[in-house]
Amino acid sequence: MGVNLSTDIMYLSGVGPKKAELLRKELNIATFKDLIYYYPYKYIDRSQIYKISEVVDELPYIQLVGRIVRFEEVGVGRSRRLTAIFTDETGMVELVWFKGIKWVSKSLRLNVKYLVFGKATLFNGRFNIAHPEMEEYKPDTEKINSTLQAAYNTTEKLKNNFITSKTIYRFQQTLILQVAKGVDETLPLYLIDRYKLMTLPEALRQIHFPENSTLLQKSQYRLKFEELFYVQLGLLKQRSVRLSKKNGHVFSVVGEMFNRFYSEKLPFELTDAQKRVIKEIRRDMGSGKQMNRLLQGDVGSGKTLVSLMSMLIAVDNGYQACIMAPTEILANQHYETITKLLDGLPVMVDLLTGSTKKSERHRLHAALKEGSSHILIGTHALLEDVVQFQNLGFVTIDEQQRFGVAQRAKLWEKNDNPPHVLVMTATPIPRTLAMTVYGDLDISIIDQLPPGRKPIKTIHFTDAKRNVLFGMMREQIKAGRQIYVVYPLIKESEKMENLKDLQDGYESIVRAFPPPEYVTVVVHGQMKADQKEFSMNLFAKGKAHIMVATTVIEVGVNVPNATVMVIESAERFGLSQLHQLRGRVGRGADESYCVLMSSVKLTHESRKRLVTMTSTNDGFEIAEVDLQLRGPGDLEGTMQSGLPFDLKIASLSKDSQLLQYVRQVAMEILDDDPHLSNPRNFILLNQLENSAKEKIAFGQIS
Ligand code: ADP
Ligand code: MG
Repeated sequence: MGVNLSTDIMYLSGVGPKKAELLRKELNIATFKDLIYYYPYKYIDRSQIYKISEVVDELPYIQLVGRIVRFEEVGVGRSRRLTAIFTDETGMVELVWFKGIKWVSKSLRLNVKYLVFGKATLFNGRFNIAHPEMEEYKPDTEKINSTLQAAYNTTEKLKNNFITSKTIYRFQQTLILQVAKGVDETLPLYLIDRYKLMTLPEALRQIHFPENSTLLQKSQYRLKFEELFYVQLGLLKQRSVRLSKKNGHVFSVVGEMFNRFYSEKLPFELTDAQKRVIKEIRRDMGSGKQMNRLLQGDVGSGKTLVSLMSMLIAVDNGYQACIMAPTEILANQHYETITKLLDGLPVMVDLLTGSTKKSERHRLHAALKEGSSHILIGTHALLEDVVQFQNLGFVTIDEQQRFGVAQRAKLWEKNDNPPHVLVMTATPIPRTLAMTVYGDLDISIIDQLPPGRKPIKTIHFTDAKRNVLFGMMREQIKAGRQIYVVYPLIKESEKMENLKDLQDGYESIVRAFPPPEYVTVVVHGQMKADQKEFSMNLFAKGKAHIMVATTVIEVGVNVPNATVMVIESAERFGLSQLHQLRGRVGRGADESYCVLMSSVKLTHESRKRLVTMTSTNDGFEIAEVDLQLRGPGDLEGTMQSGLPFDLKIASLSKDSQLLQYVRQVAMEILDDDPHLSNPRNFILLNQLENSAKEKIAFGQIS
């Protein structure tokens, strides 16, 4: 006891104000607690010490014990370096520094026994180790006995200020020695017993200074268990609170608009999957409880129609409805589709985006307030405070992974009672994962495409086959079809470079498909809205043959006459994005093609992605492969942006089994004690409340 974990990191011995500032800025480490929960990203086995005579070229990082017999600065200018001759009783190696020469040469001492750690490479017939880690060798006074040495992520800036992985390791040492057993347990003892978990103080010690790999695994298990468990406990508790409240608008009837639409307007038969999902939604909306539903369905499965019919039920019950799309293009498209479908019915549909004119805005704001506008379609412009509804009863959020949690929360402020919410996504993810990523949403799945769709043929070409591709394109154009050619948008920061790719691509397309015989348009994210609109329209109306674009067309563009999707540098796209893009074709009755262009050299992963794409059209299957392929970084990066919690050690993809397990554990506890009022669950309640304080209030959101 005695050490307060909320103490400012500055007061840890060896840190001080300057380093504290850096740690805070670069790694978000502001307190003792932040540091102790800053986990290593890997471990290096330091149980073995090599003799110099055993050193061979292929070894990974190794440890040597010996002395420095001589060191000197050599070379001038760029080749200036510090070299030291290091020996043990079996031989010698050279240690080399190219940076920090002054500082290092001041600190080196002759005839002191050093433990040297680094990678030995053969250079001019002699082994050398560049920028080794070294410390004085004191085998008996090792403070903490650990053979697997933790390594910590740092940043360039930290390294330049001499805060390396090793420095953080030392800070952890100091801290662990100080707090030792003083960390309070965060799980109730009965759970620790029941699930045979390591205690928290022990787990924190082992995670930083593992005695052996078994104990390391036990500590990782304990910390992951806890992390995922609290996420689930929080979500499930929230859900039971929501379900216990009778605060949902009750849509008791299916009325005239819905029925007339169904019998007079609907141009085709609903698929069984659509019928089932509409039933699920109707049941929710009549229950008196607020609906929170995630609708997953592959691209082209007809989600928009489900949303529209749900909105009509709201209108039939005297409520307004809105649909929020992530891009203006998509909002426009929804607006067009929906007004066309509802043509002749007395339902007022309006559009609100960033480019809506001021006068129209004014009219619209008034119409929404007095209730004469029934369905509003738009972008995040809907979230502005001036947009006030008379009685908003139903909200659809389309392609929701693009909306942040806070944005969604704003929709709630538009009414006293929360509206029913339908979140639609075309990125299928496994169910348990969805529950975690999208809070406590109920889930509906459209697992069936409308009839008559021909499966899209997917082909993988390298550059050598470009002529074949062009030939194919000509044939399709001759048959009256249209073509997308997409270039990757890699990172925000690389926008300009990416535009250059796009520009080059456009030029080569125009060379191969010269005007006036062929018309090619370009669309990218940095175009002015009206220019973009103009190009999109040319294509949508069939007046352009080819659209060269960045991934702006990933969501929503609906041109049934387009039958070829060419994806350039396909190896640079993630699986779900490739699948999304492919979904832009195959929307009409004609045979469609997706052509993945890539270089010849592919990593194992990108090859697997391309092979997956050519072998299946099933979004859920693709999602599974995606999950296996992607490490914690990528997938979770996209899934977790917008997540109301961050995971420090568990991984949604790698630990999905543990996730299901702890979800079960959390459920059993709540079944038994829904309010966590049993004294033995005091710690649970307390932890939930603490973490709620630390984070934004995400409970009501989705
Ligand atoms: P999603 O949003 O799920 O990608 P959309 O709602 O845009 O899919 O539908 C894709 C296309 O399929 C649209 O042109 C739509 O009119 C059409 N469609 C939807 N439902 C059916 C159905 N039951 N039968 C035939 N076509 C349908
Ligand atoms: Mg859609």
